[in-house]
Amino acid sequence: MIIFKKISALQHHLDSLKSSKKAIGFVPTMGALHDGHLLLVQQSKTVCEVTVVSIFVNPTQFNDLTDFEKYPVTIEKDCLQLEQQHADILFLPSVTEMYPEGMMNQKPFDLGILETVLDGHYRPGHFQGVCQVVKRLLDIVQPKQLFLGQKDYQQCKVIQRLITVTGINASLVIVPTQREKDGLAMSSRNVRLTDEQRLQATAIYQQLIHVRDSVGTVSPLYLTQQATAALLHSGFSKVDYVAIADAESLEPLQSFSDNKKAIALIAAFIGNVRLIDNMLLR
Ligand code: AMP
Repeated sequence: MIIFKKISALQHHLDSLKSSKKAIGFVPTMGALHDGHLLLVQQSKTVCEVTVVSIFVNPTQFNDLTDFEKYPVTIEKDCLQLEQQHADILFLPSVTEMYPEGMMNQKPFDLGILETVLDGHYRPGHFQGVCQVVKRLLDIVQPKQLFLGQKDYQQCKVIQRLITVTGINASLVIVPTQREKDGLAMSSRNVRLTDEQRLQATAIYQQLIHVRDSVGTVSPLYLTQQATAALLHSGFSKVDYVAIADAESLEPLQSFSDNKKAIALIAAFIGNVRLIDNMLLR
């Protein structure tokens, strides 16, 4: 695996690969890698000839300074894991390399209702920051395929929209959520949970399963209220949302109908760690 910290050196290397018509797969991450990230790398390796991974903790997507400051950094372990997966290239830029003077503030992207629903509402500015960094990374790497995890479902929808509105020439591949044995979605933030919180955290998965198994028996509103109460009862300190939404638009669903694909999404705090997860309902 070759590690690049400078954009110019990375691009120089990629140019030679592209001129020999190698298909580039790209996996953007914020590091503290776990098996969920590695699954994205494996998927890229099965369909692309060259896999580029980036590790960059993007300051512009954190609406909570403490979350940014406490974001785990495990670069040496990450490099080892990527070597084991035979990733070809690791891009490891600094903040100044990514955002030279003047690039931090930019015109907002038109994200439609994705900007105001769910995490758009609870994390103001977050998706603009995500778009800013992903657009910059895509401009640098210019991959054929971009690999993102379903774990961040709204983020996938936002990036799909970014690709459409900017005309970026890359296709998005959404990779299923990788879970721990008890169902908890793998997340870099899980290491911040105490042993007790780690056990309590599985309630998110259990509630998603309960919602999925109850589709059609009661209303979405009743199900989301029930799940919210169950999370609070299980030790979660705050529930931002339990939502049942149209899986395409992410608009809330008032009822289950046969012709709409539905998804359940949860964001909740356990202590001061915010966890998110989702499950397609049909
Ligand atoms: P992050 O480093 O958390 O920004 O995540 C980088 C990429 O890994 C994003 O596309 C995430 O959706 C994806 N990802 C994170 N956790 C998981 C997981 N448990 N399963 C699959 N993909 C994941």
